[in-house]
Amino acid sequence: MGAHDLPLIPGAPADGGCHGGQERLVAQATAAGQGELLQQLRRDYPLRETAGPHDQPQSMCPAFGSLRVGLRMRRVHTILSGSACCVYGLTFTSHFYGARRSVGYVPFNSETLVTGKLFEDIRDAVTEQADPAKYDAIVIINLCVPTASGVPLQLLPKSIDGVRIIGIDVPGFGVPTHAEAKDVLAAALLRHARAEAQAGPVARPRGPQDGRPTVTLLGEMFPADPMIVGGLLDPMGLAVGPTVPTREWRELYGALAGSAVAAIHPFYTASIREFQAAGRPIVASAPVGADGTEAWLRAIGSALDIEPARVEAAVAKALPPIRAALAKSPVRGRITVSGYEGSELLVARLLIESGAEVPYVGTACPATPWSAPDLAWLQARGVEVQYRASLEQDIGAVRRFRPDLAIGTTPVVQAAKQACIPSLYFTNLVSARPLLGVAGAASLAQVVNAAIANKPRFEAMEAFFGDAGQGDKAGVWQEVPVLRPEFREDTKRQAAKLLKKRKAEEMI
Ligand code: SF4
Repeated sequence: MGAHDLPLIPGAPADGGCHGGQERLVAQATAAGQGELLQQLRRDYPLRETAGPHDQPQSMCPAFGSLRVGLRMRRVHTILSGSACCVYGLTFTSHFYGARRSVGYVPFNSETLVTGKLFEDIRDAVTEQADPAKYDAIVIINLCVPTASGVPLQLLPKSIDGVRIIGIDVPGFGVPTHAEAKDVLAAALLRHARAEAQAGPVARPRGPQDGRPTVTLLGEMFPADPMIVGGLLDPMGLAVGPTVPTREWRELYGALAGSAVAAIHPFYTASIREFQAAGRPIVASAPVGADGTEAWLRAIGSALDIEPARVEAAVAKALPPIRAALAKSPVRGRITVSGYEGSELLVARLLIESGAEVPYVGTACPATPWSAPDLAWLQARGVEVQYRASLEQDIGAVRRFRPDLAIGTTPVVQAAKQACIPSLYFTNLVSARPLLGVAGAASLAQVVNAAIANKPRFEAMEAFFGDAGQGDKAGVWQEVPVLRPEFREDTKRQAAKLLKKRKAEEMI
């Protein structure tokens, strides 16, 4: 992520974006007529109550969430409009995560930005790309600078030659995490699909249509999880519906047609608004562990008014294998959990039901009603839950609780390893496993126990390396490092002198 290389308006300083200048960008966006958009984003994705340098969590460029949702859809082309450095970072990351297709880019310079020519360039780009033989939809994403400048994507045609045009603003100064940026695009797609469904017949989603009422799942999850949920729902006469974000356009209609929506990931606030507008009940939490699965099945039963006997049958069928799997794969040890995927509370529940002690859960996502049951369950077991957790809070928890294992984001894992604490990446190693029902109950123990068992290796490495390469001895040395604390003292003295001189000059 980089600072912008272009001024936003003539004479404006060229800093801003994710490395500062947020207030200026917000003021600029408001002046450019984006006040309502920013207010809606703030309502949907509230920041922490205590403002400060970390009033929003440290995260990769939020727009990556929207980009990823677009790139994972069949017959959808995604185009970015933003500074070259931002687009470079976003395309790099998307290919790192296996996008396997092109990301479109509409470049700009100061002139095209301030004269409005950028909007015309965007319109030309989508018109050129709108080939119905290739695409169902084109997604165009305004990054920080075009959003702050008020480039009006809402004025683009709704469709060109039958190809839907979906324009969204995903500024880092309005959308706090990449998780919530997934919601921005998912909601825009649902809104468009809902309008189409209201206007007349739409394409039937793929897959078996046996007439049973379905439950739509909300949140990217491990591929086996929807199948597991299908098995849990079956005794109630229900089937699992599409997962949102969807993999293709027509699944959006199926998602909207679901009888209920399971907010497995609790941060899809704008998408939930679309489902509620379509009259769908929303069910909080997820079928995770034995307690979570039981409560979730009952909540689905009550949301859809299912006969109590069928709900009890579903519970009676689901719980014994989950309990057996939990008993067969126990986890022993103290574990801190932090991440930005939105499933952190669910993972903590599963770990606790597996036998682990979890003193702290940090999530970059905000508190919403859809994780309230998980919060209550965890708090009842004495777990400290931190929504909108900053890196400092997550690392602080690792220092305070000295866990046997720290599950976290890359910098948390790095800090834990430095402190000789085994650790696991949440995104790569925990999110990439089944979480729900019986498959989830059996999946975490192996990787978690293997990581905890690594402690002696960490200790052996620490004993061997000692403080080599730490502090002033970091870097590549040809000979044994000679510390020069006097150099640092000298630099400090010079800096203090300079500061004094500047202050004296200011007073003149
Ligand atoms: S678009 Fe992303 S990378 Fe660029 S300034 Fe905004 S938050 Fe940072």
